[in-house]
Amino acid sequence: MSVEQSQIGRPAAEAQQLLSQLIRFNTVNPPGDELPLQEHLASHLTQAGFACELLAARPERPNLLARLRSGRDGPTLCYLGHVDTVLADPSEWSHGPWSGELADGFLWGRGALDMKSQVAAEVAAAASLARSGWRPARGELLIVAVADEETGGALGAQWITEQHPDKVRCDLLINEGGGGSFEYRGRRCYGVCCAEKGVFRFNVTTSGVAGHASMPAMGDNALLKMAPLLQRLAERQPAYELTSEPQALLRGIGEDPDDAAGAVARLRAADARLATMFEPMMGVTFTPTQIKASEKINVIPSRAELKVDCRVPPGLGEAEVLRAITEVLGEDGYKIDFTECIVGNRSPTSSPLMETITAWIGERDPGAEVVPVILPGFSDSRHFREAFPECVAYGFFPHRHQSLLQTAPLIHGANERIDVRDLEFATDFFADLTTRVLGSDSAA
Ligand SMILES: [Zn+2]
Repeated sequence: MSVEQSQIGRPAAEAQQLLSQLIRFNTVNPPGDELPLQEHLASHLTQAGFACELLAARPERPNLLARLRSGRDGPTLCYLGHVDTVLADPSEWSHGPWSGELADGFLWGRGALDMKSQVAAEVAAAASLARSGWRPARGELLIVAVADEETGGALGAQWITEQHPDKVRCDLLINEGGGGSFEYRGRRCYGVCCAEKGVFRFNVTTSGVAGHASMPAMGDNALLKMAPLLQRLAERQPAYELTSEPQALLRGIGEDPDDAAGAVARLRAADARLATMFEPMMGVTFTPTQIKASEKINVIPSRAELKVDCRVPPGLGEAEVLRAITEVLGEDGYKIDFTECIVGNRSPTSSPLMETITAWIGERDPGAEVVPVILPGFSDSRHFREAFPECVAYGFFPHRHQSLLQTAPLIHGANERIDVRDLEFATDFFADLTTRVLGSDSAA
């Protein structure tokens, strides 16, 4: 592959080349094997003038820290990214998932969106600045590339924030989870991810009496008692319960937060995929995913168990989930046990960092607006928000040409690819954000 460099700026060319290289390191997790990639990034950043360090829970899966200090008081601006990926089946791809090939204006490969692209854009922007002699006027720039995000971060973000909090302490953080653009009723919006939903998984259990399956009426079949419960889960979700972020989102797209149902209906009419993506931000959701009953084909089960994956906006907790369960499943006929309770995490939707992002988008995509979004899942931001409650953390990787509707199905899917114009757009963003937040030391 040869990357066409003549039409684009040097940091963007560097980002393309770096992304192509990063994709060629197979870091499918498990097993991850992030070491060779991290050594490559460390050498790239060291040559540019960064102080780099690899910190590992397991030697073959290190996390990379790279910093550029000013020596003067000021904020620590952290660019957080993960370098592991989910798996890929090459037979489903039109360009190899570890090829890093440039074709049809896209750079192809696993991680081209999630999220080697963001790491490449951040590193290229920062390394270009550093090589040009730029140093922060205040505070410091910290790049954290972690291992092991796709399976929860036990060796990555969770480990590093718990074991080395002083090395990754930061005031402002940019991570994955936002930046996709979308069009809605004449508006053009970029989502900044300000919050992530919590996870309150629970088991629904029904009980009966065991018996021989050759005589259906002999026992009392616990599995059949699941049928009406599953039916109710199929028919509806709990009522919307709008926290401050979805309220701000609805205002941002010109909708009335007091009429969430109307807003979702209009989103659905505009594009059903927008409703699919935005509706879960409006409240608690239930998704039944696993069911189990009799251990034996010829035994009527005395017990059946349904597992429900439940996601809860930050600010809401067990009390709201219990109320939602009663609302959807009714009062009787089952028992509930929570198996996992993690509250959601958030940063303020208004902040100087948000203003800087908004101003940049206004300059580079005139007429476009910035709106807060909630991630229905979660990312490594939760470990940083937990470790550093004062830190303002946002998910933001601006995509202008490839819309949110185009990128969403490619993440964790086949033919993951990034429009190289977006890689350039994002690289410019990270370079500008760096100097706007940390200033420029003219003495450097
Ligand atoms: Zn990711």
